[in-house]
Amino acid sequence: MLDVCLLGTGGMMPLPHRALTSLMVRYNGSSILIDCGEGTQVAIKQQGWSFKPIDVICFTHYHADHISGLPGLLLTIGNTDRKEPLLLVGPKRLEKVVNSLRVIAPELPFEIKFKELNEAEEHFEVCGINFDAYRVCHNITCYGYSMSLNRTGRFDADRARSQDIPLPYWNRLQKGETIEADGKIFTPDMVLGPARKGLKVTYCTDTRPTPAIEKYAAGSDLFICEGMYGEEDKIQKAIDHKHMTMYEAAEIAAKADVGEMWLTHYSPSLVKPAQYIDKVREVFPRAYAAKDRTERTLVFEEE
Ligand SMILES: [Zn+2]
Ligand SMILES: [Zn+2]
Repeated sequence: MLDVCLLGTGGMMPLPHRALTSLMVRYNGSSILIDCGEGTQVAIKQQGWSFKPIDVICFTHYHADHISGLPGLLLTIGNTDRKEPLLLVGPKRLEKVVNSLRVIAPELPFEIKFKELNEAEEHFEVCGINFDAYRVCHNITCYGYSMSLNRTGRFDADRARSQDIPLPYWNRLQKGETIEADGKIFTPDMVLGPARKGLKVTYCTDTRPTPAIEKYAAGSDLFICEGMYGEEDKIQKAIDHKHMTMYEAAEIAAKADVGEMWLTHYSPSLVKPAQYIDKVREVFPRAYAAKDRTERTLVFEEE
């Protein structure tokens, strides 16, 4: 089970009724944040989610609307008496950028760890979630992120019995452990059926369409993507500023065959993003013009 909340849907600047784009995910007692622009902590407060369990913060890139909220958020997390380390993930120069911001938030009761992204595509595992970071196409280095929960096959007790696998090993095999005992090797595939469908959320903002987005969005239950402009004649503006129109986002969603798409990172000039959604749905029917704090609990298909 994955709780997902798009804390804000704005791009460039926070507006009175539109916070900057940021995603918060809760899983198994941990919280993960992607992007932290000015005022993100206000949106977390409005959502009523807690600051203390934030274990990971990922940054897409170092434009102010995606990172300038960090010092204040760190101080707030510090005030919750958090002692466990916090992992920050982001493109190259991560430590330098964060340390510059930390000049105004120097004293924290927890350690900060850094994971700097240097390759075009990187895979890592934190908090039991599989992360994929993939470089996209903005006017500075920028990454999208996918978070996946894999799911093993169903445990087959009949198979375990027919192979005379001792009962005390069943649970360990089910959890993926390989066991060597009594001169025999027992592997999980001896007792597990085919892998079941997991959960996948892909987040991508501040980029032109690029093949990496489609690759990582593929098979996502939820694809959160920028749709900076709804007016079709703003395509040139999108190209010039390395952003996307809603229709370009919808084309990626259609090719990647995602479960649903939430649009975000709207231009401040875009007053009513939803007014374009009918046209967007001609390209990809399961598109939504997300609002601040649009949330969803994703659950495995079969228990
Ligand atoms: Zn932005
Ligand atoms: Zn940007």
